[in-house]
Amino acid sequence: MRRKIVAGNWKMNGSKDLVASLLGQIRSDLASLDNDVEVVIVPPALFVSDVISQAGSQIAVGVQNVACWDSGAYTGEISAGMAKDCGCGYTLVGHSERRQLFGETDEQVAVKVSRALASGLDAVICVGETLEEREAGSAEEVVAVQVRSAIASVSAGQWRQVVIAYEPVWAIGTGKTATAGDAQAMHAAIRGVLKSFGAPAEEISLLYGGSVKADNAAALFAQPDIDGGLIGGASLSAEDFVGICRAM
Ligand code: PGA
Repeated sequence: MRRKIVAGNWKMNGSKDLVASLLGQIRSDLASLDNDVEVVIVPPALFVSDVISQAGSQIAVGVQNVACWDSGAYTGEISAGMAKDCGCGYTLVGHSERRQLFGETDEQVAVKVSRALASGLDAVICVGETLEEREAGSAEEVVAVQVRSAIASVSAGQWRQVVIAYEPVWAIGTGKTATAGDAQAMHAAIRGVLKSFGAPAEEISLLYGGSVKADNAAALFAQPDIDGGLIGGASLSAEDFVGICRAM
């Protein structure tokens, strides 16, 4: 009953040429896909309208970040309402690169989640521990704190817009993937946190991210609490990305 989702986070990569070539190939390859996976492309915001116009109805589109505010004197920011207005269905919130490189705090993540949900976007809330935190044995606690904080103000009618992506920081862009067993253990723990929070935990999709490739996706997606993937590097190749969608 949970949605299966594969989302491609292009990060700060791409060009109008890449949009045209990648989307053309992804669209034609997805035509023969026979599973019920929801495919989401998350390009740099400037390319959202190009991606939407070339994505067809099978592919949803999202932004990588939204502001803590709806509008106003916040030079350089874009709001969740603007993303929705431009045809987006999703936003990432709290990606580890936002947290690490731009100092995004749990408090800001929570505000962004509220803005996204209130604007009608689905929020893919990204959580994950660093290598030091894993080695210190505190991975589950770190992730639990991030999850609880991010969902603090989600209201009863908004849970269907919430998706959580577990992305261990040490696995992002490094070629090191969590084992399917370790990823499953964390996903089960996250579902436990959601349950203890009073959320409809069994209905919330949990994605794994961090060096997912076409050849390791099937083992991850076979785990009972892994409902899809958030894909960085491999989403920039149509063959790899569609291969991951097929593994769902
Ligand atoms: P990666 O990135 O697949 O390149 O490891 C995942 C992410 O940052 O969402």
